[in-house]
Amino acid sequence: MNLSRSTELFERSQKLMPGGVNSPVRSFGGVGGTPPFLARGNGSHVWDVDGNEYLDFLGSWGPLVLGHANPAVVEAVQKAAADGTSFGAPTEQELQLAELITAALPSIEMMRLVSSGTEATMSAIRMARAYVGRSKIIKFNGNYHGHADGLLVKAGSGLATHGVPTSAGVPESYAAETLVAEYNDLSSVQEIFSANVNQIAAIIVEPVAGNMGIVPPNPGFLEALRKLTRDEGALLIFDEVISGFRVGLHGAQGLYAVTPDLTCLGKIIGGGLPVGAYGGREEIMRMAAPLGPAYQAGTLSGNPLAVSAGIACLTELNQPGVYERLDEMGALAEQGIRTAADATGTQITVNRVGSAFTTFFAEAPITTWSEVVDADTERYAGYFHGLLERGVYIAPSQFEAGFVSLAHTEDDLAFAADQVRAALESRTD
Ligand SMILES: *Cc1c(COP(=O)(O)O)cnc(C)c1O
Repeated sequence: MNLSRSTELFERSQKLMPGGVNSPVRSFGGVGGTPPFLARGNGSHVWDVDGNEYLDFLGSWGPLVLGHANPAVVEAVQKAAADGTSFGAPTEQELQLAELITAALPSIEMMRLVSSGTEATMSAIRMARAYVGRSKIIKFNGNYHGHADGLLVKAGSGLATHGVPTSAGVPESYAAETLVAEYNDLSSVQEIFSANVNQIAAIIVEPVAGNMGIVPPNPGFLEALRKLTRDEGALLIFDEVISGFRVGLHGAQGLYAVTPDLTCLGKIIGGGLPVGAYGGREEIMRMAAPLGPAYQAGTLSGNPLAVSAGIACLTELNQPGVYERLDEMGALAEQGIRTAADATGTQITVNRVGSAFTTFFAEAPITTWSEVVDADTERYAGYFHGLLERGVYIAPSQFEAGFVSLAHTEDDLAFAADQVRAALESRTD
């Protein structure tokens, strides 16, 4: 594979940007090698600056449920741009997007648009603290909620009940406000509540974990979090930045029939442009300025280009049969991978919810963080490069999701299955 132009651009980028990238995982630290610099995308395919073509399962990390350069999205963005790119004043499009979101997610009675998932979770937590009048929150090991200080936290060791930073630059005093439980382990949550009576404002959870690879909630887990938070006077925040409009039109909350107090959105609701949102029960959202005392703002929040892309995307997702198709294609992708693994005697576990999936090089079941981290990351790196060389682009890390879009065809998935088999057969790691 010729990566000469990418190699040259990567060298120059590394001088000007940390790791040569604007988001760490893009630099291929988890798998090694030079990241192809991408120049163009269309439907299910992307092309790099050296002219290599790839069948894409990254989907920009989730947003591109319609595929690359979807005509309706492109047209909406072009039209919006011609009318002015930003006003810093209310627009009709913001209302339209809010109406599309709240129609699909009835738990969101009132909402606000922001520009990233990070902003959405950070702001939702602020509203929760303002409303409940407590400062501590619970998050889960392996769940990711963006990079706000108080969320880059893991469990403290030994008898410590408070969290410790996972990133340099996060004060321990901030991390101490975050308590860390184990995903799919209710007793770990109960223990934290028992040790912190009347101190916990909210639990934030990915209702389908997507940032430790796809890990669905165990039956009853979300229901139990719902009950526990109610009993303890705390709020339940679903971070649906990945799962929202991905696992179904009504998100994970619709799929599992559990109603959170607040929901965070991002990725798909921007149709590939920067958008996030948070919202939920009206009395909580009334805490937000200018109605209430909790401040949150954004110069480019509700940006007309981004919002227009989001409207076009959600409009397509409201068409009948869309999620059935996504699930069908997700199942086909999973089947191709499983068949290839069986044929080559490879130990893998595929976790899948609809069109989102992860191939773990590990034994089933994978339901907790400790099972996730047992996966063979070196084996994954070999698999990743085997696929990349064969024209299939998957996430450059074992602990991420793959996505099928509405632009993927049966032929694409047959091609992918052949390449998966070839990559597993010729393991080089
Ligand atoms: C991607 C993601 C975020 C962060 O969103 P950004 O737009 O990258 O800031 C937060 N939560 C979840 C569940 C995510 O998948």
